[in-house]
Amino acid sequence: MKLLLAGVLLATTATLTLSVASNERPPVSAGFWFDPVSFEAQALGGALTADDLRTIETTAREEVATAFAPFNIVISDRRDARYHVRVVQEVLDHRIKRKAWVAGQSHAMRGFGGSGSVSFIYFASGALSYAPPTATRRETVEAIGRGIGRGAAHEFAHQFLIGREVHSSRDRGSYEYHAASRPEQYYGPMHWDVAGPMLAERYGKHSR
Ligand SMILES: [Zn+2]
Repeated sequence: MKLLLAGVLLATTATLTLSVASNERPPVSAGFWFDPVSFEAQALGGALTADDLRTIETTAREEVATAFAPFNIVISDRRDARYHVRVVQEVLDHRIKRKAWVAGQSHAMRGFGGSGSVSFIYFASGALSYAPPTATRRETVEAIGRGIGRGAAHEFAHQFLIGREVHSSRDRGSYEYHAASRPEQYYGPMHWDVAGPMLAERYGKHSR
């Protein structure tokens, strides 16, 4: 009898394990990488150094990873990922005739994936203009990375949630807020607002 019970228990455990495994979809793969970029400003004492650029990339990667940590989405530097955002020197708005610089842009097709870019110059300038007077050079350099990472998270949200309106948030401290021209883009914490439940619905870690 004891043996039989043990057998039943084992079988139940095995069934549970199997059903958990089959409910878990493979994570969505998204690529994020930097093109060769540069920036200089008097406030930084000249051009960004190779060390600065490494700090910026590390900070930006941490931001993107933090933003999507609650979801079944893996961010890497893979360029063949279904979804990607690359950091480029500048992004031009081609919808407008005159030359206009924008923070970022994305294209996506439902069921296929998406591609986007964010502007290094836009976020480097922004981190400088929104820097509190007490900010050190190091803090400003990190803020450039934070701005870029949060801008990339915003663009990824457009791609992952193709067909959904993510700009409806009025929360200036949220990733999906419609404008990057705000101090919250660079300084202080950031969170998901309206896009959070939408991402959880499509990319929840344990839901279907
Ligand atoms: Zn947007």
